[in-house]
This record gives sequence, C-alpha cells and structure tokens, in this order.
Amino acid sequence: DLSLSPRVNAVKPSKTVAISDLATSLVQSGVPVIRLAAGEPDFDTPAPIAEAGINAIREGYTRYTPNAGTMELRHAICRKLKEENGITYTPDQVVVSNGAKQSLAQAVLAVCSPGDEVIIPAPFWVSYPEMARLADATPVILPTSISDNFLLDPKLLESKITERSRLLILCSPSNPTGSVYPKELLEEIARIVAKHPRLLVLSDEIYEHIIYAPAVHTSFASLPGMWDRTLTVNGFSKAFAMTGWRLGYIAGPKHFIAACGKIQSQFTSGASSIAQKAAVAALGLGYAGGEAVSTMVKAFRERRDFLVKSFREIDGVKISEPQGAFYLFMDFSFYYGREAEGFGKIEDSESLCRYLLDVGQVALVPGCAFGDDTCIRISYAESLTTLQAAVERIKKALISLS
Ligand code: PLP
Repeated sequence: DLSLSPRVNAVKPSKTVAISDLATSLVQSGVPVIRLAAGEPDFDTPAPIAEAGINAIREGYTRYTPNAGTMELRHAICRKLKEENGITYTPDQVVVSNGAKQSLAQAVLAVCSPGDEVIIPAPFWVSYPEMARLADATPVILPTSISDNFLLDPKLLESKITERSRLLILCSPSNPTGSVYPKELLEEIARIVAKHPRLLVLSDEIYEHIIYAPAVHTSFASLPGMWDRTLTVNGFSKAFAMTGWRLGYIAGPKHFIAACGKIQSQFTSGASSIAQKAAVAALGLGYAGGEAVSTMVKAFRERRDFLVKSFREIDGVKISEPQGAFYLFMDFSFYYGREAEGFGKIEDSESLCRYLLDVGQVALVPGCAFGDDTCIRISYAESLTTLQAAVERIKKALISLS
C-alpha cells in the first residue's frame, strides 16, 4: 500500500528547491547553466563567525544544547532585538531552531486550528501556504500589484478578515519581490490587526539587514500595541551568509513561544551547538552585522542596480525596483504567447523559465511558484560577472522569440 497521509497529499513540493536541484544536476552533467534560482548568498561565512564554529568543535562544544537554544545565544538575540529593532524580549520568549524555516513552520503549527485562515499577501515565499496546509489551515492569498511595489493594500486586508483569520504572514524585505514595507503602511496594518483580537502576525524579518538606503526596516512587533500580537522570525542564513549552518529563531509572547518550543522538543530538539557558537559571534560583529555584512550589502546593491538598469532596457519587461533582499521579480508577461523554433509556445512563467533554462542556460524561478504567474524571479546572489553573462544569455534567448 503506497498511500500517503492526506496532509502530505495536500502539500506541494518547493519549486525553488526543485529548480535549484535540476540546475545543479545539469551543471554536474556538464551543461554550463548559470544558476540564479536559489536564495543563497554567494559569499562565504565571514571569518570570525566560521572561526567561532571551528573553535566550538576544537573545544568539545559538541553536545546537545537546551531545546530552546543556549542561554548565551538567546541573551545575544534579546540584546540584538532590543538594540536594532526596539523590541524587548527575555530569553524565555525566544526559541532557536534549525533555520528560520523551522521557526516559521512551528509557529504556524502552534497557533492554527483546523479550518483557521492564514492570510498571505502574494507574491509570497513558497513555503507559507504549504505550512498553513500542513497545519490543516486554509491559506487566504491576497494579491498585490507591481504598480504598488507589491505592497499589501490595507483595505483589501480589512475586507478579507473573518472570524477564522488567525495569522497574517508578513515578509519584509520580501522574498521574492525585494519590497520593503514602509513604517506608515505597517502602522495602517497594525491598526487593522488591533481591531481583530484573534489575528496574530507572523513577521518574517530574515532579510532585515539586506536593505538599500533610504529604505529602512521596521519590526512589526515594535509598533504600538503589536508586541502581544506578533511573532518575530529572524535568522542567520541570509545576512551572515550562513545558509548551511541552519540557524534561525522566533521571539514573541511566552505563551506562544513555549508552544513552539514544545513542538520542537518532539521533532528536532535544540539546534546545532556548533552553529549556535558561530551565531553568537555573528551577533558580536556589531550593529547590523558591522562591516562584514555591510560589505556584502554593498555588493548586492551594485548587482541590483546593474540588473534593474539592464532589464529596463529590454522590451516589455516591467520592474518594481527592489529595496531589499537579493531578488528581482519582473513581469515578463509581454513574452507570453510567443513562440520559439523547436520549443513551442511560451504560455506562462513556467514555460518561459523552461525556455530560458533549455535555450539560454539560465536557471530562474517562475512566478507561479510565488503566486504571480506574470513574473519570474532572478536571484542576484551571484557575482556581477556572472550576472552580466546571464543578462546576455536572457536577451539572446528573448530575441529568438517570435
Ligand atoms: N524566510 C524567507 C522569506 C526565506 O527566503 C528563507 C530562505 O529561503 C527563509 C525564511 C528560511 O531561512 P533559513 O535558511 O533560516 O531556514
């Protein structure tokens, strides 16, 4: 009997992971694909962080840690959240996990009852709706538009709240759009949330440090009345180039955080002791990650500027200039309906990405994975030289369409 649980059957596999894996296997078999599908910085983990991990191993710091994370790391996280985000937590209001992804999944599982609604603005990070489904909750997708820089319209939000609404998931800076929610817009959203006592906000702030001035990051929990209503998620993967260390965290009112910890205690227990030592060093690098992080952000900004300029020169492509993260989410629907010899018709974001992979040898993610089929996502966590080559290949492939 090969039957699977209805829970698994309801969930879609991650398209970003599938495309990244396909691109990697093509490269391994000798096809020179440029991989711009993954959400992973191309930088190495900064040396002082890596050293702290190596020292942890050398010093035998290799045993289980407390389920919620070491006191040392949770204290450091509380200091960070206070100084950088203006939100006050104690270590028992923080749970450290194997990546922000686990923190998010546990939060959804901890607060949603079957039939609850999880409100997710689109374009969304691929995992949010599936996490809701895994919790037997219903994702309620609220579209945004490129002409509004992919920001949620508070009126639309208000019109979609029901007595079943349990969670609103916000991601700023956003994957996949790079949009950053201005403080005034978050305040408007907060005023709506305040009117609905059952609604909580899960604020995914993992791209917080990858932000381009004048945009500034605002933590939702720091807004008046929102501390009680917000679960703040952050992590080390993106800003500190620590994807492989697998470390993220959640902070919020103790009642909810303890529930997240309870789930974790039966699934995985405490995160890697070595990664936690490295994370303490990461938070010790200074405000917003100090120079190690600002150097990477500067490089991301240069790449963003290059890509925005390059794609603005291509016929029919619509762009909202990203203010953070390392993705550009562009409307390519101008090309839908065209044909390529030997390939057939470009119908949608998926066939366009397949065409760009087959013919252009550039791996990108179709917007349909993020709930917006007009767009495709290009990740610019790659060197400028690689991006220049990718733009040339994309241009050439597009020209062959008729
Ligand atoms: N949230 C968003 C918006 C992301 O893009 C990612 C990674 O792709 C994560 C969370 C998960 O990060 P982590 O590596 O900490 O699990």
